[in-house]
Amino acid sequence: MMRVLFKVLLNSIPLIAVASTINLQGAATRLVWPTPNTAFREGLGMEHYLQPTQSGDPQSGGFGCVRNKGTRFHEGVDLKALRHDSKGEASDPIYAAMDGKVAYVNRVPGKSSYGRYIVLMHDGQKPAFYSLYAHLRLIEPHLETGFVVKAGDTLGIMGRSATYTIPKERAHLHFEIGLQLSEAFQEWYDLKKFESPNEHGDLNGMNLIGFDPLAFFSVFREKDSADFDDYLGNLAVAFTLRINTRKTPNFIRRYPSLQKGEISDRTLVGWDVDFTGFGLPVGWKPLSNDGLLEPWKENRVILLDSKPGNGIRFSCRNTISADGSMGSHLSQVLELLFKFQPR
Ligand SMILES: [Zn+2]
Repeated sequence: MMRVLFKVLLNSIPLIAVASTINLQGAATRLVWPTPNTAFREGLGMEHYLQPTQSGDPQSGGFGCVRNKGTRFHEGVDLKALRHDSKGEASDPIYAAMDGKVAYVNRVPGKSSYGRYIVLMHDGQKPAFYSLYAHLRLIEPHLETGFVVKAGDTLGIMGRSATYTIPKERAHLHFEIGLQLSEAFQEWYDLKKFESPNEHGDLNGMNLIGFDPLAFFSVFREKDSADFDDYLGNLAVAFTLRINTRKTPNFIRRYPSLQKGEISDRTLVGWDVDFTGFGLPVGWKPLSNDGLLEPWKENRVILLDSKPGNGIRFSCRNTISADGSMGSHLSQVLELLFKFQPR
């Protein structure tokens, strides 16, 4: 039965996908809203596209410290259902936001709080990033790792799969966009001795760091260029860390456009890294041995500068606290980036 329903929905999709396309002028890149809802594109209020939690406050479906009275972080947005089948289950098709490749598919809802989810990698972009579509009811059967998708292609059907209960009336798409921290996630995971095994390889949610999808979509609704570097480069910097290390993390090799300036690997003694309030490392300046880092000490991390105002929306994220000490989330990000315990 499910299979048949899926087919019917697929047949009705193309027109809607075109309607929700945001064309980026001067670029071949298309950015597509991941559901058939056109409210965001039309500039309507967030209550028309965000699915609130039980609180009923539309903001609770947004990105940031919006959960549990502002104490819990939500790394993406929850997009509400427009369509329902005869049983009241959400039936909106879910679209790929941009051209990319399937990086991961989890079809077993019980294996993740994301339920059934799919991750796309957009490595045609600079810097490359991922998009993630969670709580799906169905994932298109032909979508396997490595499969190439175009912006607007149907990935599956909206749902409410998770390791906890999402009521029918609050079925939604949890949608994220962001960067992958480490390519050796399993090593870190093993060291941490978590109780359950890592079922999701490098695309475990703990290894992904999202930015605000609404802010991202807004920029490309308003601007006439599709410079993704610009988007990340213009995010507010909340603090800068000076990190003593002779290593170039794999992260900056994968996202070289985030690096500010060049020096040779031989003279590298550290990095000044700019972070957003929610812990995304967006600017990397390599340091050579110019006396700045005296006394140099492997793995030493110094808070250089902080603008708490720029991170105020993200105070629940446990990056830097008011007294300048390092929070648990920032420490985890540094462990994943540099493969060491920050001191
Ligand atoms: Zn969510």
